[in-house]
Amino acid sequence: MIIVMNKISTEEQINAVLARIKEKGLDANVSKGTERTVIGAIGDERLLDPELLESLPGVEQALHIVKPYKIVAREWHPKDSVIDINGHLIGGNHIQIISGPCSVETPDQMQKSAKAVKAAGVKLMRGGAFKPRTSPYSFQGIGSDGLKMFKEAADKEGLPIVTELLDVRHLDAFLEQNVDVIQIGTRSMQNFELLREVGKLDVPIILKRGMSATIAEWLMAAEYIAAGGNHNIIFCERGIRTFETYYRNVLDITAIPVLKKETHLPVIIDPSHSGGKAWMVSALSRAGIAAGADGLLVEMHPNPCEAWCDADQAINPEELKHLMQELTAISKILGRTISE
Ligand code: PEP
Ligand code: MN
Repeated sequence: MIIVMNKISTEEQINAVLARIKEKGLDANVSKGTERTVIGAIGDERLLDPELLESLPGVEQALHIVKPYKIVAREWHPKDSVIDINGHLIGGNHIQIISGPCSVETPDQMQKSAKAVKAAGVKLMRGGAFKPRTSPYSFQGIGSDGLKMFKEAADKEGLPIVTELLDVRHLDAFLEQNVDVIQIGTRSMQNFELLREVGKLDVPIILKRGMSATIAEWLMAAEYIAAGGNHNIIFCERGIRTFETYYRNVLDITAIPVLKKETHLPVIIDPSHSGGKAWMVSALSRAGIAAGADGLLVEMHPNPCEAWCDADQAINPEELKHLMQELTAISKILGRTISE
């Protein structure tokens, strides 16, 4: 950590800062310039709180030099991490598309969805049994029965399932159904207790970005999961809140290269919840993959007009097939594999 003293700081104030650093077991290096004094704290800087140091008299600024996140940081793990989901790889050179309806509705809808996912060449299926809705009066998902219905339909087509966990109280039902990938939604990104619980599991986690979360907050949320021992984390950019009202959220494409620089873990995008309209899905998907995303989480419904949730943004089976053709062409140019 670097502590910059202000111009008028006294010797006594400098010594007080040095005492604080030594108290925590770190060494200090004092550099006296013509303008001001800079103190370098050497050792495990996580033991020092910059805010606490900045409250001391004579201190202008205290800055961390290493990243506050460790396990998820590329700084400590330069090679791309590749996550194995029942034999389907994501990360590194491998792109995976995950598709399916917003919510689990009926056995017939799930069977049709699973068939359409398989027919498009997609290897992983999504669907929500527990839905986080803005209004308590909207459809909340069909719950645990939906997990069972989802698993049965997906199993018939040999597809691993991805579904959102809203509450730790549902975890037993998730484990009972052998959910293959647990999704943590945008509204739960900073539910630290939930993050801690999934950190204890040996199940890959998709961590969606909070709709108003900074990249640093998102990385720290992933660190919560990783700190528990579960390093199988996939970041999902799903659109953020801005001043724009034309579309549901703004897909932050810029976040893709930034995340790729900051973390070794896979990064995917959700073109459905970002644009909020089916007609935008193809453009946003192509942009995401071209920008280096390791995959997509995309909503598809066998009959979008009848979807119980997010009908506007679901593409149909034919559109999913076409999208896969477009993405296969882009992946080829990038020299990457898709949906293997
Ligand atoms: C979803 O994927 O169904 C969902 C609710 O997404 P988000 O958390 O991004 O809103
Ligand atoms: Mn949805």
